[in-house]
Amino acid sequence: MMEETRQCQNCHQEFRIEPDDFAFYEKIKVPPPTFCPECRMQRRMAFRNERTLHKRSCDLCQKSVISAYSAEATFPVYCSECWWSDKWDPFEYGREYDFNKSFFQQFKELQDKVPRQHTNNTSPATLINSEYTNCAGDSKNCYLMFGAGWNEDILYAHYTNHSKNCVDTLYCLNSELCYECFDVDQCYNVRFSQTCLWCRDSMFLFDCRNCSDCIGCVGLRNKKYHIFNKPYTKSEYLKEKEKLQLHTRPGLERFRKEFEDNLYLKLPRKYYHGQMNRNVSGDYISNSDNTQGFYTKNAKDSKYLFWCINAKDVYDYFAWGDLELCYECVSGGYNMYFCKFVHTAWGDLRNVEYCSLCFTSSDILGCIGLRSKQYCILNKKYSKAEYEKLLSQIKKHMAEMPYRDRRGMLYAYGENFPIELSPFPYTDTVAQEHFPLTKSEIQKAGYIWHEPVQRNYVITKKHAELPDSITEVSESILDDVTSCEHEGTCNEQCTFGFKIVPQELQFYQKINVPLPKLCHNCRHSGRVKQRNPLKLWHRKCTCAGQTSANGIYQNTVQHFHGQEPCPNEFQTSYAPQRPEIVYCERCYQADPDRPEIVYCEKCYQAEVV
Ligand SMILES: [Zn+2]
Ligand SMILES: [Zn+2]
Ligand SMILES: [Zn+2]
Ligand SMILES: [Zn+2]
Repeated sequence: MMEETRQCQNCHQEFRIEPDDFAFYEKIKVPPPTFCPECRMQRRMAFRNERTLHKRSCDLCQKSVISAYSAEATFPVYCSECWWSDKWDPFEYGREYDFNKSFFQQFKELQDKVPRQHTNNTSPATLINSEYTNCAGDSKNCYLMFGAGWNEDILYAHYTNHSKNCVDTLYCLNSELCYECFDVDQCYNVRFSQTCLWCRDSMFLFDCRNCSDCIGCVGLRNKKYHIFNKPYTKSEYLKEKEKLQLHTRPGLERFRKEFEDNLYLKLPRKYYHGQMNRNVSGDYISNSDNTQGFYTKNAKDSKYLFWCINAKDVYDYFAWGDLELCYECVSGGYNMYFCKFVHTAWGDLRNVEYCSLCFTSSDILGCIGLRSKQYCILNKKYSKAEYEKLLSQIKKHMAEMPYRDRRGMLYAYGENFPIELSPFPYTDTVAQEHFPLTKSEIQKAGYIWHEPVQRNYVITKKHAELPDSITEVSESILDDVTSCEHEGTCNEQCTFGFKIVPQELQFYQKINVPLPKLCHNCRHSGRVKQRNPLKLWHRKCTCAGQTSANGIYQNTVQHFHGQEPCPNEFQTSYAPQRPEIVYCERCYQADPDRPEIVYCEKCYQAEVV
């Protein structure tokens, strides 16, 4: 089968299209892409604003709302109650397709007219008492939660699903009572931890599985009462734990430093984060088969996924999940089938192309704001026969008269929306987080630049005045605005000041941890810094025979390669210059204390499919 190297229209780097890719493009009926995988990911990310909220009012009822769109947006913005009501009709904005203009030009004209929902949340009926959220759904009592769903009592969370009573989490699934965690799944009462599965009642864990009552441990499996990877009896453990004073700020700071200096970098880690996979590449990926992705779970025969759960035969996808045979979609899911170039749309969508904000619809093209509709183009209804005829004429027309963006790049049928058609300023989107551009680069490219949102907090308490433990904090803290320790010097969207909300205070009291000294954006940035980049390097296993290549770690058993360095190579998100000891699966798994989860074929299939 054929294989081809092409040059990306955007970055001019070469990229490869493999035989598998051609088979997929054929199946989904699109020509191969003209952008490289990275530039395609950047383009998708530019269509999703997760964390930038603005104050504005609803253009229909005038109620003031917290919105993903600023007051300068070029289209009307309605509050969710108005948007999901029948107070307006998307067909009012419908128009005939004009063969004298490019498709994307006409879509842009429609986009400037059709009202958008003030956030990218699911309908108000599914989101209870959770006003300060975005890209969120099906949740209750949540606050400052972004890109998350099926949660209850979750505060300051990002990419967190099916969880309860958690604060400050990033990529957290099916967990409860967790605090300051990143990349955890099915954990209970775990704090300050990363990359853990099935752990409970523990703190400062990295890469642990099925552990409980452990503190400051790395790479453990099925262990109890361990501190710094050393076993204790239950009573010794409790005595040691008491000595560490981990309910106080000085105790936590001391422990964190010791953990980072003495353990975290001294033990080998697997070349990627995740488990229960077969033939995967990427990172933070689990229960997947024949898939390339980041922050991905339960995917099969898919490629170029980011933040995706439950996908089959999907290429180029960002945010959320439950979809099959889809291509180049952003912010969608809940049963999508054969959808292409769709953003912010979900729920029983079939044969949908180049649409935005559409729900429970099928056979629609270039539409915005439709619910339960079929056979529509540019918000105009057709008969089945008319639709099918026009659809093939338009696809042909898109190839003959491609859209030319400000930089001269061409967008024919098969190319996703140009970034300049995003309803968000580039600076407000996830693209700025992963592919940051300067003000002049943004303006030169024809994207929109926004100055950071200014907050005018009046600080009533200095962070230095915060007590060292939560028991010394009184309810009056709820009236205070505390200064963030970074004081805006960090380039992390620091809000300078922050408030503690009642639900949050109760949580800290319940789990007995001191108040944070940083604003929620700076705390989020701290977790973001723990994650590896969305980039893969080709590297060799750093196992040198009896020790790690840097001599720091002594293997506990003989490896399959004997005294010689391990010959295995892999794709990893650990850049070559990083200090971590990065082992291949075989060398990593060689430790007799680290049994891999073994499934029979039947269970394996049940798990991944
Ligand atoms: Zn490129
Ligand atoms: Zn801050
Ligand atoms: Zn190895
Ligand atoms: Zn080895």
